[in-house]
Amino acid sequence: MLCITDLFARVEDKEIIKGLNLTIKPGEVHAIMGPNGAGKSTLGNVLSGRDGYEATAGTVSFNGKDLFELDIEERAREGLFLAFQYPVEIPGVSNMEFLKAAVDAKRKHHGQPELSAIEFMKMAREASKRVNLDQAFLKRGVNEGFSGGEKKRNEIMQMMLLEPSLCILDETDSGLDIDALQVVASGVNAMRSPERSFIVVTHYQRLLDYIVPDYVHVLANGRIVKTGGKELALELEEKGYSWLETEAV
Ligand code: ADP
Ligand code: MG
Ligand code: MG
Repeated sequence: MLCITDLFARVEDKEIIKGLNLTIKPGEVHAIMGPNGAGKSTLGNVLSGRDGYEATAGTVSFNGKDLFELDIEERAREGLFLAFQYPVEIPGVSNMEFLKAAVDAKRKHHGQPELSAIEFMKMAREASKRVNLDQAFLKRGVNEGFSGGEKKRNEIMQMMLLEPSLCILDETDSGLDIDALQVVASGVNAMRSPERSFIVVTHYQRLLDYIVPDYVHVLANGRIVKTGGKELALELEEKGYSWLETEAV
């Protein structure tokens, strides 16, 4: 599904990703942990094609296509989804309009007809129920005045409606109370399937009690310096990262 080979990438003339390799097969959940400033969010931004994040060397193939040949919208239509660490507000555009446009663009790309307003509303209502988000949020501006927990639930709802093949969740757990965390985790777990993969970036082992990963990677100094199973997250919680960074040099 995703194959990253010797990736180097920079932000604002600063090299942040320095020789990163990662392969993700369909159905797998990969957790990425690592110290602050290691490049975890940069990796997500480079993959999703965000402005200002430039790959300088290496290759990334996504569903057999060269990811860097696709622009940001094409990547989304191909099934890449990045839930932002700090979701943006889009005042004046209702959450529902925004979501319907995104869902229709993806359907069109796959040769499916646009949804009627009624069909979409039905899907959106079901998704909002599954994340315990009041239906009133569908009518509000995208993320406008949403609390931290509401934004995260909204991200999971977006993900449910867009049905991406690769979901990148960047610190989806930061600032969440236990109830919201469980909603997010059960939303992700409900979406796990043999065709869909996840990259879960997190600082806390806690989230991985709920979303049990197939692999845990440590990203430090712009590279994956260690890979293990879910038990690695527990080891990291206990020992921190310094032993690994030393090992990596
Ligand atoms: P992490 O998510 O692992 O905490 P980031 O990928 O956010 O780390 O950041 C890695 C480094 O890249 C940091 O030194 C950060 O300051 C820098 N960086 C990230 N985005 C930008 C940006 N838009 N402009 C300038 N520097 C950036
Ligand atoms: Mg950070
Ligand atoms: Mg980050």
